Amino acid sequence: MSGFSVARLRAAYPILAQDIAPGVPLHYLDNGATGQMPQPVLDAIIAHETTARANVKRSVHTLAERATNAYDDARDAVAAYLKVPAREVIFTAGCTAAINLVARSHGDLLAPGDAIAVSELEHHANLVPWQMLAARRGLTLVRLPMTADGRLDRAALPRLIDKRVKLVAVTHASNVTGAITPVAEVAAIAHAAGALLLVDGAQMAPHGPLDLPALGCDFYVLSGHKLGAPNGVGVLWGRYPLLDAMAPLMGGGEMIRSVTFETSTYARPPQRFEAGTPPIAPAVGLGAACRFHAALDHDAAMAHQLALTGRLIEGLARIAGNRLRLIGPAGLDDRLPLVSFVIEGTHPHDLCQILDRRGVALRGGHHCAQVLHAVYGVAGSARASLAPFNDAGDIEACLAGIADAMKVLLS
Ligand code: PMP
Repeated sequence: MSGFSVARLRAAYPILAQDIAPGVPLHYLDNGATGQMPQPVLDAIIAHETTARANVKRSVHTLAERATNAYDDARDAVAAYLKVPAREVIFTAGCTAAINLVARSHGDLLAPGDAIAVSELEHHANLVPWQMLAARRGLTLVRLPMTADGRLDRAALPRLIDKRVKLVAVTHASNVTGAITPVAEVAAIAHAAGALLLVDGAQMAPHGPLDLPALGCDFYVLSGHKLGAPNGVGVLWGRYPLLDAMAPLMGGGEMIRSVTFETSTYARPPQRFEAGTPPIAPAVGLGAACRFHAALDHDAAMAHQLALTGRLIEGLARIAGNRLRLIGPAGLDDRLPLVSFVIEGTHPHDLCQILDRRGVALRGGHHCAQVLHAVYGVAGSARASLAPFNDAGDIEACLAGIADAMKVLLS
């Protein structure tokens, strides 16, 4: 797709054409939870399932060969999107599965007394597996603080990431505050201390192709559904020697080199970590989603989304006045088009329920980031998270709904 036209982009998403109730159009502002599926992804999945459905790497018949090619092709598309070699791309069930794989298989290489540093901004997917690893292996969990406006506190890092720390796990962009982490800077600090860096790309990856070698991290994870691919597929990327040093998490078909009754030897990555029948059609969808996103004009798409984000923040301040508490930065620099907020005297769930009646889909709750909310001193927040297809009408509908909800909830 050349240039950037919101109207043309909206037309690529069949789900946006519906009314959520008679006469109530959908305003989807929950892209941070799950991205919607554009027609080219739907087409790729239907084409695969109707012309190439078979298991991969097993049979020699034509459909099996097509399925294997499609699966390999999907890995190539993901690799191109991340600017990494295909053999470093492992298909997992999602971001959570990818982090758990590292926490288990790389975690087993850590020794009692070692430390893992995790930020307080993290989604539970990038905290709980490290807590489990720490308990299992006798490791220390180091807490990396955030600033008052919901960014990773860079000034605190050199002191906290010391020689005991063997792995640093941070999000590329917070699913609550929207703040973007300066990954290259964190990578330099981590590496100077002799630690590896895992980056949670769940929120960042849907916003355009990445250059992982330039970011300098060692592991990167993402979830396909956030890019508009089906559920059930995600990616672990790791530097090949790191992956090759890891034992498999799951044993089964297609991850072995040879098997006797007593023991087995394992294939090399990525096969070593893809036991059993993989999520073939979802991976094909993810490959198509990567190609779709890569073809967008990302600077224009981000400028458009940040302009809408600015309107949303201004509108919220106008409507809610000093009842408004932003859970994240107020400015538009180094952030995603995602805004979390609390309106004093209202509950985020009530707000979201009233918005839903107007077709506006927002998410309310702790967004699987209880630690972050605890630092802010609130139990949860309402979150609007944008995609390139959102338009001014979505923001206006959201603001009008919030004004209405405040009348109901504060009366
Ligand atoms: N990390 C972040 C920052 C997320 O936003 C999410 C999804 N909400 C995850 C991890 C977990 O992704 P999944 O549930 O797809 O495994």
